[in-house]
Amino acid sequence: MRVLIVEDESRLAENIAEAFREGPGFAVDVCHDGEEALLACGAVEYDLIVLDLMLPKQSGSKVLQALRAKGCQTPVLVLTAVSEVKSTIDLLNLGADDYMTKPFDLGELIARARALVRRGKGLRQTSLTYGGLTLDFSAQTVTANDRQIELSPTEYRILEYLMHHPRKIVSKRELLEHLYDFTWEHHSNVVEAHISNLRRKLRGATPQTVVENVRGRGYRLSQRDEFAA
Ligand code: CA
Repeated sequence: MRVLIVEDESRLAENIAEAFREGPGFAVDVCHDGEEALLACGAVEYDLIVLDLMLPKQSGSKVLQALRAKGCQTPVLVLTAVSEVKSTIDLLNLGADDYMTKPFDLGELIARARALVRRGKGLRQTSLTYGGLTLDFSAQTVTANDRQIELSPTEYRILEYLMHHPRKIVSKRELLEHLYDFTWEHHSNVVEAHISNLRRKLRGATPQTVVENVRGRGYRLSQRDEFAA
């Protein structure tokens, strides 16, 4: 999952970013003004945007309007100061999915953010299943045949992404963009090592379910022999 934080108070922005990295383990990008935010949204498909309203260059409302006008459906959680809240309805009419009034509790922000991401993915349930695997979002565990598979945080995030897109080829770049922030290019080589560990752990737990290497195109979570010619 990859989140964009748009907040001009650098310290607050960094605190929110840290909370997303440490809690749900999202990849996080931070922008400090509205123009930068629109550029970032044009370049990357985010799973969630946390958007302050009072921003330099372009206000949060303008950013939100522009994104929705372009057909962007990414869930947006708005941050406002009390004095800025005209009414909840105004914010929702602009296309916000949720909002929080400053000062807010970081834990609550993360909890609401997780809920929005799940809804954004069309998943109201708290778990995903595929081919004998069950991934529990709240416990952040993966089980196969009632036995938990011990995964590193990165392996978990790779599998979570693949389980959101079962049977589809996911390019290495797409995967990297969802795992890391703007520094993703530096991680290009390690992702293969993570995939290979993940593959080995899945083989031990549920041999039917495999992470295939589709030559030159990427990776695919599938059932063994499903795509055999
Ligand atoms: Ca502000």
